[in-house]
Amino acid sequence: MNYEYRNIFEIPPGRGFEAGAADTPEVDLAAFYAEEFVRDDFGPMRDVATPEVVRHYTRLAAMNFGVDTGFYPLGSCTMKYNPKVNEDAAALPGFAALHPYAPARDVQGALQLIDELERYLVEICGMSAFTLAPAAGAHGELVGMLLTRAYHRKRGDDGRNVMLIPDSAHGTNPASARMAGFDVVAVASSADGVIDLDDLRTKLDESVVGMMITNPNTLGLFEPDILKVADAVHGVGGLLYYDGANLNAVVGRARPGDMGFDVCHVNLHKTFSTPHGGGGPGAGPVGVCDKLVDFLPVPRVVKKRRKYELDYGAPDSIGQIRSFTGNFGVLVRAYAYIRHLGAAGLRDVSGAAVLNANYLRAKVARFIEVAGTAPCMHEFVASSAKFGRGSAGDIDKGLIDVGFHPPTTYFPLVVPEALMIEPTETETKETLDEFAAALERIVTDLTADGHAYADAPLNAPVRRLDEAAAARNPILTQMMAEEGGT
Ligand SMILES: *Cc1c(COP(=O)(O)O)cnc(C)c1O
Repeated sequence: MNYEYRNIFEIPPGRGFEAGAADTPEVDLAAFYAEEFVRDDFGPMRDVATPEVVRHYTRLAAMNFGVDTGFYPLGSCTMKYNPKVNEDAAALPGFAALHPYAPARDVQGALQLIDELERYLVEICGMSAFTLAPAAGAHGELVGMLLTRAYHRKRGDDGRNVMLIPDSAHGTNPASARMAGFDVVAVASSADGVIDLDDLRTKLDESVVGMMITNPNTLGLFEPDILKVADAVHGVGGLLYYDGANLNAVVGRARPGDMGFDVCHVNLHKTFSTPHGGGGPGAGPVGVCDKLVDFLPVPRVVKKRRKYELDYGAPDSIGQIRSFTGNFGVLVRAYAYIRHLGAAGLRDVSGAAVLNANYLRAKVARFIEVAGTAPCMHEFVASSAKFGRGSAGDIDKGLIDVGFHPPTTYFPLVVPEALMIEPTETETKETLDEFAAALERIVTDLTADGHAYADAPLNAPVRRLDEAAAARNPILTQMMAEEGGT
């Protein structure tokens, strides 16, 4: 295609862009695609001039809410400010313009970055080795499950099928365990919101493959009996999986390996500063203890005779789980973030994250019920149950109207009308005070009139949406909607 620059007055009025004549042969699409996928009617689309295109996208961008526009206390998701210098690092042409098929000898710097980032994560998590290939947290979980399965199979221990998961777990945990072919058995939470050891003991036997744990758990509480839990699960031959999607409370202070975990994943796009949300690229590296190293996915970055190579030759590997070496741009951001902060800086991250969460928790506990015992870690869960069913959603919408992103709502499932609040370490005391004041105003209004926010949001680009229908029956294209979708 030759995109020559044309004087705008040569372009027909109202048309933003004229592509030059194609210099490639015409292709018969019908030869490649089933008939129903080939469009010849593009519907009622009109040409638009350049300024109209610019205005359209600028308007859409201004409607979007992000960490760079306002406070975003979305629990479990760690929506913190991402230093822009990491974007500069990821955009360096020597990283961003690499071809994935470039031979190893030409990309030594990129392979060195992968090798060093693996080592940093090994140190941060107290594991023996890491793979950076998984593309997201849930993908990391699946890889961890496949590693667990491979470990038992290699030992000829094929009869196990039960993965234990606390009832407060993130929904991806049971889904990943199931995808690996395991049966999921829930372990109850105690009245304090942590793993109920007595309930766990009744579920432990030789059928247990392992247990998946988030620590601190989704209520923001550190499991006080984690070493006992690890001993108990290991006692029946199971492996312990650490869901470290959100490491913000423990980074630089406590390590999954030291808590007895055999395999873990971390989300670089939560703790390690890659912008996320909206389904963009992430990374969910997986760390393992000694006995699982041989099963890690290929390729492995190895150093031989002072040169880095990609090694595909591990006979016990679970295989390749992602094209090439993962989402490399995300790895560059995490590398830059870790190098910039250093060990002391990472410790400060968790310190400030936990301080901010406890400050906000103490403020809001004066006017709304909070689940679990204090102190919390990086997040806490409030409950609006006393205002009735649907009240958490109303509070969310009220917050949108005054410029805040809502907390995570209706999760974890063990708390009715849950509002899961994670302020993160990058927010100021003033922002936390403003948020607490806004929440208090909404609670006061609801106390006077339980339906005060039934119509909110009033000031957002869209009014109240049917979220359940949107999740169950997503309409993802304009055409489908026009063809009679709802
Ligand atoms: C975000 C999260 C996940 C899933 O991570 P994705 O990258 O969204 O797949 C898993 N567990 C917990 C606790 C999380 O917060």
